[in-house]
Amino acid sequence: MTRIVIMGGGPAGYEAALVAAQHGADVTVVENDGAGGACVLYDCVPSKTFIASAGARSAFRNAGELGIQTNNDLAAVDLPVVHGRVKGLALAQSADVRARLQREGVRLINGRAKFADDTRGLAQHQVVRDQRGRRGGDPQRRCGAHRNGRHAACPAGR
Ligand SMILES: Cc1cc2nc3c(=O)[nH]c(=O)nc-3n(C[C@H](O)[C@H](O)[C@H](O)COP(=O)(O)OP(=O)(O)OC[C@H]3O[C@@H](n4cnc5c(N)ncnc54)[C@H](O)[C@@H]3O)c2cc1C
Repeated sequence: MTRIVIMGGGPAGYEAALVAAQHGADVTVVENDGAGGACVLYDCVPSKTFIASAGARSAFRNAGELGIQTNNDLAAVDLPVVHGRVKGLALAQSADVRARLQREGVRLINGRAKFADDTRGLAQHQVVRDQRGRRGGDPQRRCGAHRNGRHAACPAGR
């Protein structure tokens, strides 16, 4: 069976992992920050959530034109609530991505991956996690992409 290690669990990594798993590969994703990557945790989801709050606040300014009387000065922005919603939605989507990958049989490892080949220029590589991810886990766990099975596969969800 082809063994694939993907470094990074953002949209590029998790979509590739799903396709590879659907084609029967043994797939491991090593992700440093959380399933969904920067897109889900910092970029796409948070930005849309901030835009939604900003849009709701801005609507007060133009409400009079639409025949709705409001007191613009009373529409204060509660920043802790805005930030809490951003964080909650990003974490919920990250959890969805993680669950989907696990349902498809993809192994997830929290940490930072790097190539660990003795020589350069190989078609097949050894990959190690050399640092804990932001959510913890065992350092230095090997999750080899070798076909000859020299390295133990890493446990699901670690
Ligand atoms: C503010 C903002 C808003 C955006 N909104 C949208 C949008 O609405 N729609 C849209 O289509 N695109 C949007 N984008 C673009 C989108 O975020 C990127 O196109 C997308 O994140 C790219 O996905 P990716 O998987 O390549 O990288 P990322 O999402 O950056 O994920 C890569 C992940 O790999 C991890 N990683 C990297 N190296 C290693 C390693 N060695 N070991 C372990 N993990 C590693 C990183 O921690 C990271 O989490 C937005 C971007 C920004 C900045």
